[in-house]
This record gives sequence, C-alpha cells and structure tokens, in this order.
Amino acid sequence: MTVLSLPLDGHTVRDRAITVVGAARSGLAAAALLRRAGAHVFLTERDAIPEATEALLVEQDILFEDRGHTDRALRADLVVVSPGVPDSSPVVARALRQGIPVRSELEVASWFCDATILAVTGSNGKTTTTSLLGHVMAASGRTTWVAGNIGTPLSAIVERTRNDDVVVLEVSSFQLDHVERFRPHVAIQLNITPDHLDRYGHDFEAYARAKLRLCAAQGPGDFVVYNRDDERLAAFADRLRPGAGPTPLAITLGEPGSTDAGFVRDSSLILRIHDSEEHLMRAEELALKGRHNLYNSLAAAVAARVTEVRSDLVRESLQSFEGVPHRLETVRELDGVRWVNDSKATNVNAVWYALESFREPVILIAGGRDKGNDYEPLKPLVRGKVRAVIAIGESAATVEHELGPCAEEAMRARSMAEAVHLARRVARPGDVVLLSPACASFDQFENYEHRGDTFRRLVADL
Ligand code: ADP
Repeated sequence: MTVLSLPLDGHTVRDRAITVVGAARSGLAAAALLRRAGAHVFLTERDAIPEATEALLVEQDILFEDRGHTDRALRADLVVVSPGVPDSSPVVARALRQGIPVRSELEVASWFCDATILAVTGSNGKTTTTSLLGHVMAASGRTTWVAGNIGTPLSAIVERTRNDDVVVLEVSSFQLDHVERFRPHVAIQLNITPDHLDRYGHDFEAYARAKLRLCAAQGPGDFVVYNRDDERLAAFADRLRPGAGPTPLAITLGEPGSTDAGFVRDSSLILRIHDSEEHLMRAEELALKGRHNLYNSLAAAVAARVTEVRSDLVRESLQSFEGVPHRLETVRELDGVRWVNDSKATNVNAVWYALESFREPVILIAGGRDKGNDYEPLKPLVRGKVRAVIAIGESAATVEHELGPCAEEAMRARSMAEAVHLARRVARPGDVVLLSPACASFDQFENYEHRGDTFRRLVADL
C-alpha cells in the first residue's frame, strides 16, 4: 500500500482507500462525503450497525464491518476518525503505530470547504456562542451555515456551501485531536476549564493543547478572538508572534486595557477593532442574560465585526436572539412566575452561572445522576437567591442535604411531574422556577434534551 503524501484535498481522495472509524453521525457523513468524492471507503464500527444504516451504506457503495475491527480496516491510505473515537481505540492505535495518516472528520470535511469558516471552541458556551454568531451572520445577509458539534457534521453540508458563504462551526476538543490544515478565518476560544479529562489521560495540558489546535493552521489575515480573563488563553495569546499567526483579539470583563477588542465599560459593550472604539450597546439590551453570556455576546460581536458585519446589525441580532433550547430558556410566564429550563446545566459550574444571572428569588429544581459533584461553590448563591430547593433523581438526598439547609425550604420529588407541582405550589409572583440540575440526566431520562422537553411539556400543561 502506498502511503499517501498529505495534504489531500477534495480532488485527490479519488480512488484512494480510506477507512472511516465509527459509524455515528459524523463518521457516516464523512464516509458518504468521501465516497461521493470517489474514494474507496471502508467503514469500521466497534458495536453493531443498525440495519437501516447498513442499507444506506450498501446503497452508497460503502463497504463496512461492525462488532469489532479487523485487519481489513488497516489496508488504507488514510484513516478518518469520528470525534467519539479516542486514540486508545485499537484500530486507531495500530494505524498510528503503522504510520497511516489519521485525520479527524472535521479536517477531512474542511478539505472540501471554500466558504469562510468561523469556529467556536471552549469548555463551556460553545453551543450558545455558535448559535448566537450564526444568528448574527445570517442577519448580515450572507448565506450562513451552522454546523459541527452542535448537530450537523460539516461533512454533511460542505458540498452545498459556496465560497461567499459563511460556516459557523461548533468545535469540540475531540474534533481537534487530528487536524492538520483545518483553518478557520476566525477562531473563538471561550475558556479552558477541566472537562473530558478521561479522554486525555487525566492530563489537563493535553486537553488544553487540543483546544488550542483550533488555531494551529491559522496565519496572517486570520483572527483569534479569545477570553483574556482565562489565564491559559492569555498565555497562549502572548506566545503568538506578530505577523506570523492570527491576529489576537482579546475580550475581557475585567479592567479594559489598550489592546482589548471587546470589553464592558459602564455597563455598555464596547468594541475596539482596527483601532477605532465603538459603543455597541448597553448590556441590559442583550437577549442573553448572565455574566457568562456577556463573554459569549462579546465574542460573537467581535467575530462578526472583523467579518465586516455592520454594527447596527450586530446590535439588533444580539437583542433579538431567542436563545438555545435547554440553556436558561424561558419556557413560560404564568401568574407572575417565570419558568426557566436549563437542563443542559449538567455540572456545578453551569448552575453557578445560572443562579448568578437572576435577581429574582429562585425555586431551584436540581438533581439527577451525580458525577461526584462538589456543591460547596453553589452554597453562597443558594443562600442569597434560592427560596426553595426541590431535589430530584438519584442524587435527591445529596442535593437536599447539601443545598437544602442554605435555602428557606427544601423538598424532594420522585418525578419531574411532582417537582413541577411542588414548584407551582411554592412559587410566588416575581419568582423564577429554574430547572438547573447540576447532574446528568441518565437516571430518569434519555438525555438532557429529554429532561428539558419533559419539564417544558409539564409547565405548558399547568
Ligand atoms: P457547550 O456547548 O460548550 O457545552 P452550552 O452553550 O451548551 O456550552 O452551555 C452549557 C452550560 O454552560 C449552560 O448551562 C450555560 O448556562 C453554561 N455556559 C454558557 N456559556 C458559558 C461561558 N462562557 N462560561 C461558563 N459557562 C457557560
């Protein structure tokens, strides 16, 4: 087998033998894309491939194996990995040992992309910022695609994009494990806090390095919008050499410095791009509330402005954005009580930001599958803002024990239906009922969306 000399592109994959590892959404989309481009594609999957998927593969002339990987998978010029597949997967480990090029789905899809890519990564806030920036870019009149980790893989849409389109991509660290030439015109680095460490050998540095690879192929003419309040990101930006890599554009909620591109002064969002300062809008006009959303909004605004979107359009879009489901999503106002679904808050940090964002008294519904949470950081906020804690799920006893004493009242509910009824009983006009569990959902629900949808439906029925 001749080992390919990379770089490849959308044309040179023709007639190459390419193995795709992982038959989930991204792997399937990459396999189909490469097959359409004329590659001989072999798909290998550790578990069983559902029958309906098999039929689709046959139809597309994609060869496959499931329930394990054989040597056939290594007869390839290139191995493409789905984001869900770690390097410890036997087939990936062997490919790496044998010197077969291994690339991620995102990298391969980007070979086919001539559109302008704006890419967002971070430990928290990716989906929110990606959707928000997608909304802003769409308002500018350019054809805008929102893809990546948020749902639709880039591979699934890339052939339909044209070079004057914009693709706003949510990028996870997993998708960055094997990139080489993936080059966003604007990269947004929101924050780097410990997450997914199991996949990186419990090495925070390795995880941080993966995130920073978003910018590795960027060059002059490109931009990186980064949160300089995050120490690691600030250090990264310091290492960028002027004129060689991307232009750094700092955002901060701290004391503004002379080189910051986005900051808050006297409760207003100020942008300073190309050396001229502009007052964008007042923070209270933003559709998304909370301190974390100031970062997300500033990042989206700076990215849009360097992509030449007019500031009045940026302002209007940041005002009109309707939010992302399951992230501090207002579901209903009923008898003066606001019901908010933050089912995506599956860790303590996210609940901290949620509570921080309310001035109103809160009835907090929390609990589920506990991942070894330390509830300590929440206690001061619960003391200050939460009138009642309603504990649910497997961790109900722990949540009640940890947070209950900090609130005026605490109670346990056996189901979401019971939690909603209890909340209805204790909430007074002016209160917020907040579902922000701090826990995973798998004890009672399929996933966090199912948990949020259940809450939404119950609240709608009140
Ligand atoms: P991701 O896609 O990175 O998981 P989301 O936008 O889905 O991020 O938000 C996940 C959770 O993190 C939500 O509960 C949200 O309130 C919180 N969050 C959003 N943006 C930020 C941020 N910039 N910093 C910290 N937490 C955030």
